[in-house]
Amino acid sequence: MTTIKSEPHRLSETLFDVVVVGGGIYGACVAWDAVLRGLRVALIERGRFGQANSTNSLRFIHGGLRYLQEGNIKLARRMARERETWLRILPDLVRPLPVLLPLCNSPKFNPITMGLALKLNDGVAYDSVLPKGKIISAADTIKALPTLPSPPTAGAMWHDAQMVDAEAITLAFLRAAVARGAVISEGVTMHGRTNMTVHAHDADGNDIAIHGRTIVHCLGAHQPGLSLSLAINLVVPRLWETYAAGLQSADGQMLFFAPAQAHTLIGTYHALWPHLPDPAHPAIAVHIGRFLTQVNSVGVVRLTAADIIAVNRGFLPIAPHSTAVRLLREGTVHESAPQVFDITSVKYTTARWLAEQAIDQVCARLQLPRRCETERVVVTW
Ligand SMILES: Cc1cc2nc3c(=O)[nH]c(=O)nc-3n(C[C@H](O)[C@H](O)[C@H](O)COP(=O)(O)OP(=O)(O)OC[C@H]3O[C@@H](n4cnc5c(N)ncnc54)[C@H](O)[C@@H]3O)c2cc1C
Repeated sequence: MTTIKSEPHRLSETLFDVVVVGGGIYGACVAWDAVLRGLRVALIERGRFGQANSTNSLRFIHGGLRYLQEGNIKLARRMARERETWLRILPDLVRPLPVLLPLCNSPKFNPITMGLALKLNDGVAYDSVLPKGKIISAADTIKALPTLPSPPTAGAMWHDAQMVDAEAITLAFLRAAVARGAVISEGVTMHGRTNMTVHAHDADGNDIAIHGRTIVHCLGAHQPGLSLSLAINLVVPRLWETYAAGLQSADGQMLFFAPAQAHTLIGTYHALWPHLPDPAHPAIAVHIGRFLTQVNSVGVVRLTAADIIAVNRGFLPIAPHSTAVRLLREGTVHESAPQVFDITSVKYTTARWLAEQAIDQVCARLQLPRRCETERVVVTW
């Protein structure tokens, strides 16, 4: 296994083709894509690699079902394709995940509507290795989820994919990039830029100037100008085996209860966040209490604060100036200055794809017509 060695002294030695700022999953995928195309890459991270939003995921590698429900077939197909790619390039760290949704006779969640939705879902994922979706009986649904508060009429079952460990995946991409020559460093903070030089300092306050031909900002919630929502997942002792379950809270929010080793992850709670993206902000405590109430209102479990093993929290971009949480559906790559690209990230699932778009633009600017290889190459580290 390649060790990730922070090498701040090497950051000023070379003119890099790409300087990546931010060492979450997006920065890691950008660095990996760029080294695979033969570019010279530097990456800096102000804290620890993968320590921010990228550790806080519910660990779903989403397929397209929710986007089909919104009528966005193009995005549903893209998500299905990315899910397949993750399963192929990270076979030890991404696994199939069976998901079960108990059904009733509501207009949206009845066996006929969901049966059609599952067929469409299989259609957009026509090249998938995952089992096809199906409607299962009420008895089988109760057997899988014995504490349901009211008897279902049936269950909708399909497969998504799940990360075994979100942080390990970020580190796998970084290790693979280092093995192919990327120079990367933790504890190095960008504090400014003049033309194509990134000005940074290390943990001891030493200044570092990093020269690039292009710069890609992968700052997550720290991207300037974003409107944010607070996102929270709870980690609790394991509630049931095998299935992730989609269950509605009393206020109509769809929550997912996903198995994760000895634990269950429950998420995701969202609330408008008018503050800086600080995971230690004191206002978060109130939201944890509200989320606990929301989880208990589902009726499958009665949790108290003492049951919470960990609270995963992060900050996600929402539509600008929203008065309600309207999460952005798709990430973007924006050239904010000549040869400087800003990635707005929305999902872990789409990190590889956005990285491809960013490095396509980098290669166009550098007039290096090199093809993306990340859909094909298995990430070995
Ligand atoms: C609770 C929760 C659950 C989620 N669940 C899922 C899920 O199940 N499936 C899914 O697909 N997505 C999920 N997401 C979304 C997903 O986690 C994020 O979209 C993704 O991790 C964003 O990655 P990133 O690299 O852009 O950001 P980050 O991981 O936040 O990385 C940005 C990095 O930039 C660094 N940085 C910032 N400023 C500087 C600077 N000046 N100098 C140097 N470094 C800097 C930060 O320290 C940070 O490490 C979830 C998010 C949350 C919060």
